[in-house]
Amino acid sequence: MKENIKQKILMVDDEPLNISVVAEILFQKYDLLVATNGEKALQIIYSDTKPDLILLDIMMPGMSGFEVAKRIKDNHKTSHIPIIFLTAKHDNDSIVKGFELGAVDYLLKPFQKEELLVRIKNTLQTFNLRNTLNRALEKSQSYVKTIEKQMALIDKNIIISSTDLEGNITEVSDAFCKVSGYKKEQLIGKLHRIVRHPDMKASVFAKLWETITKGDTWCGEIKNRNKNGSFYWLDTMIYPLFDDLGIKVGYTAISQNITDKKRVEELSITDQLTQLHNRMYLENSFNKEIKRSKRYSHTFAVIMLDIDHFKEVNDTYGHDVGDHVLVAISKILSEHIRETDILGRWGGEEFLIICPHTTEIEVSLLAEKLRSSIESYRFDTIGQKTCSFGISVFDLNDDGYKEVVKRADEALYTAKNKGRNQVVDYESLSK
Ligand code: GH3
Ligand code: MG
Ligand code: MG
Repeated sequence: MKENIKQKILMVDDEPLNISVVAEILFQKYDLLVATNGEKALQIIYSDTKPDLILLDIMMPGMSGFEVAKRIKDNHKTSHIPIIFLTAKHDNDSIVKGFELGAVDYLLKPFQKEELLVRIKNTLQTFNLRNTLNRALEKSQSYVKTIEKQMALIDKNIIISSTDLEGNITEVSDAFCKVSGYKKEQLIGKLHRIVRHPDMKASVFAKLWETITKGDTWCGEIKNRNKNGSFYWLDTMIYPLFDDLGIKVGYTAISQNITDKKRVEELSITDQLTQLHNRMYLENSFNKEIKRSKRYSHTFAVIMLDIDHFKEVNDTYGHDVGDHVLVAISKILSEHIRETDILGRWGGEEFLIICPHTTEIEVSLLAEKLRSSIESYRFDTIGQKTCSFGISVFDLNDDGYKEVVKRADEALYTAKNKGRNQVVDYESLSK
């Protein structure tokens, strides 16, 4: 309520003298509206110039003050306006009836000027406060409704899960249920690893737990498995949850579904025939590995291998058989390398393996193991096939990966020249 706006008081009285007395008292502080009978009073009350308070006489010709009060209180548009009876009727019944009809006060004529002012002031203060509270309540109810709507939207569209400190699920959003294929009741109380995909490395989760138990937020990409066994990828942020006392009680994960993005990404780094990494992926991996090597001052090794006389396979049995051999060799290689080794198809029938944190001796042993596994394998249709291997170790003085690849390639070329089906270590060549 702005202070410079005077509040409106309607005085209803059939006696002009009473009106002029009250007008004299109130005109400085309030806007005074006047009605000399009940009908006129109701006209004003129902008009746009609604009063903030009504001083109501009881005994009037035509409609009595009680009747006027009843009509005001029966109408929800006017029932909030406070009424003070101002009357000469001082019998108990009238007073009780006045209050029963909803009057807030009852003032007997003749009255003291100060008393009238104080009663009006108190009543207006109380009602102004009540109006303010009502407005605040309405506003907060509309906030609650907005928040409820937003919560429903969040629940439907945002993948959220919360756990206790041990990782037992305490809350999941509808969106989480949808992407994981589980119903809420199938998830609550279960360990969050119910959705973990076996492809995810344990080291990722070890780092995740280390981060969140420290109270920090973890961000990263997680491959999950849904109820029907297929996978989905989430870009996830996990942060600790605290209770009112600031004690950590659990964790909440907010995620975005990035499965489509991952599919495209995967496609762009995968060789479609062998499902191994492609050359682009290997080149990127080299750059990462070089950075790591330079930072920690330990080196990595490279194995390059090429199928011996592969052209003969195509020429003798056809291209499809050649393709099968490429796939079979990819499988043998995948099965014999370490989890940390990076294997890919470098070119037509050439493969390359980056072996992080590996010495010359270790890489020689690995290459020899691969060579003999291929030699002893019996391929469909063609029987035996061999490969030649060239190996080299990254030198911390190398500028980029091209030098180490060139050395491995030279070693491979030597292996071919020396009769194929063998491993040649570039470093031993130059010794
Ligand atoms: P070497 O022992 O000297 O390596 O002899 P090679 O016959 O293996 O070498 P060459 O480079 O003469 O031939 C490689 C062959 O590999 C020729 C090419 O058609 C074949 N090749 C390359 N990519 C594919 C492929 O994706 N599928 C099939 N089936 N053959 C391929
Ligand atoms: Mg070849
Ligand atoms: Mg070749």
